[in-house]
Amino acid sequence: SVSEKDLAAALSWAVSLLRDSGITTPLPDTELLAAHTLGESRGRVSALKIAGFQFSDAQADTFEDLVSERAQRIPLQHLTGKAPFRYLELEVGPGAFVPRPETESVAGLAIDYLKDAPAGSKVVDLGTGSGAIAASIAHEVPHADVTAVELSPHAFAWAERNLSPLGVRLLAGDFGTALEDEEASFAVVISNPPYIPTGAVPQDEEVRLHDPEMALYGGSEDGLKFPRIVMQRAAFLLEDDGFFVMEHAEVQAAAVAKILAGTGLWRDIQTHQDLTGRDRATS
Ligand code: SAM
Ligand code: GLN
Repeated sequence: SVSEKDLAAALSWAVSLLRDSGITTPLPDTELLAAHTLGESRGRVSALKIAGFQFSDAQADTFEDLVSERAQRIPLQHLTGKAPFRYLELEVGPGAFVPRPETESVAGLAIDYLKDAPAGSKVVDLGTGSGAIAASIAHEVPHADVTAVELSPHAFAWAERNLSPLGVRLLAGDFGTALEDEEASFAVVISNPPYIPTGAVPQDEEVRLHDPEMALYGGSEDGLKFPRIVMQRAAFLLEDDGFFVMEHAEVQAAAVAKILAGTGLWRDIQTHQDLTGRDRATS
C-alpha cells in the first residue's frame, strides 16, 4: 500500500486536498473522516495525532478512499452515515435529504411550544425526510404523540430507521392529503418542505448532486407551490389555537406570511430568524 500511515501527515494531506477541491470546512471534515476510520471521537483523533499515531495499512487505505470521495463532493454525512441534529445522531445516506443546522432552530420552536402542552398532544412533521424533526421532538418532548409523513420510499426507509426506536408513527403518503381522518386534531404541524424555486441551481455540489430533487424543489417559479400545499394541510389538521411552523427561504418570508394571513386562521403570525439573522421560518 502507498497510503500515508503517519496520522499527522495523512491529516495534512487530506486538509490540502479538500481545500483544493473547494470544500469550505477542510479541517473538521478531515478530522471527522479520520475519526470515522478509527471508530474514535474527533477529540481522540487530535490526541492520537500529537502522540505520533500510525494507521494500519487497512486504515490508511480506508482513510484515503474516504477523503478522495469527499473531494468528489460526496456529502460528509453520506460517508460517515451519520448526521448530528440537536441532541441526536441520525442515520443518513443516499436517498435522504441531509438534515441542516437551520432546521434545528425550526424544530426548537415547536419543542419550546410543546414544553407546556398537555401530555398526548399530537404533532405532525410533514415531509420528514430522514426523520430529523420528528425524531428530535419525540426525544425532547416525550409526552408528545408524534407522527411523521413522507412520500419518497427512499427517504421513508431512512426515516423508519431513525423513528422506530423513538416510537414515532411514520406514514407513507402525500402531505397534501395525509391524515384525512384526523382533521383539527393536531396541536402542532411542522414542516421543512421543498421550497427551492424551479430553475434555481443550488450552489453546493453536495446539494445539487446528492440531495434528492423531490426534497429540494418547490414545484413553481417562486418555490412556493409545495409550501402552499403544506400550509393548506396545516389549516386542515390543526386544532383551534394549534401551533404551525414552517421553514422557507429568506426571500419567501413575506409571501409566506401573506398566505397564512389569507387563511384567516392565524392571528399572530411571526417570522423567525436563523443563526445568521435571516428570516427562515414562519409560525
Ligand atoms: N424534514 C426533513 C429535514 O428537515 O431534514 C426533510 C426535509 S426535505 C427539504 C423535504 C422532504 O419532503 C423530502 O424528504 C421529500 O421527499 C418530502 N416530500 C416532497 N414532496 C412530498 C409530498 N408531496 N408529500 C410528502 N413528502 C414530500
Ligand atoms: N435549505 C436547503 C438548501 O439550501 C433547501 C431545502 C428545502 O428546500 N427545504 O439546499
